[in-house]
Amino acid sequence: MQLLIFGPPGAGKGTQAVRIAQAMEIPHVSTGDLFRANMRDGTELGKKAQEYVTGGELVPNEIVIAMALDRIGQADCQKGFLLDGFPRDVEQAEQLEKWLLERGKNITAVLSVELDDETIIQRIISRRVCRSCGATYNVSAQPPKVENVCDQCGGPVVQRPDDQREVIENRLSVYKKQTAPVEEFYRKRGVLKTISGDGDMDSVFGRIQEVLSDFERS
Ligand code: ADP
Ligand code: ADP
Ligand code: ZN
Repeated sequence: MQLLIFGPPGAGKGTQAVRIAQAMEIPHVSTGDLFRANMRDGTELGKKAQEYVTGGELVPNEIVIAMALDRIGQADCQKGFLLDGFPRDVEQAEQLEKWLLERGKNITAVLSVELDDETIIQRIISRRVCRSCGATYNVSAQPPKVENVCDQCGGPVVQRPDDQREVIENRLSVYKKQTAPVEEFYRKRGVLKTISGDGDMDSVFGRIQEVLSDFERS
């Protein structure tokens, strides 16, 4: 099962992806998480990505496509995976399709999470992440049990540098210009499932489970 979770920044993709990956027993592959881990560790890849991620621009395709395909080529992704944050433009979608086709695979379903800009901005402004393990929190909807301490690993819970208002606005405009057309790409292929990202995390997950169970029956 090759799943994609798609949608604007802050729609709740990562939050839902953790639950879906657990339920479906497939790895959650987030290109944003991969970049942040590389930046934190000061790798060559992290250094190349840094200025783009910090400014809310897309990391160039020659970097991100190689990284994503390398990750889903690993052994744990053989039985399936859930991609989050990739593909983010049509070129990435085409390269992913080609790579899968060469391996006799395709995208099973794309879960497209929809949310209005106002709610997106509120959610991103109050987002916090663990610097050590990447776990996501929210000061209003999902705070860690102990302030600024990760429930999962005890690491420091911080704000992402790109979760500042001006950068968020740029990420939204990049999304509309470069990423939104990817939705049409998958609609044409008949695999797009739209899901409202509104309401609490359990309600959104319930909608996703419904879509996935329909899908498993057919
Ligand atoms: P969000 O959770 O807000 O949607 P991500 O964590 O997915 O953001 O991504 C953070 C940043 O990482 C992006 O703004 C971009 O700079 C970079 N990035 C992640 N995935 C991609 C991709 N597929 N193509 C280009 N850049 C990417
Ligand atoms: P994305 O991966 O799409 O950028 P996240 O999963 O990181 O989005 O969610 C953005 C922020 O909103 C996080 O702080 C997260 O805890 C919070 N969040 C996610 N889903 C919901 C929800 N249904 N209701 C309220 N807050 C949410
Ligand atoms: Zn942690």
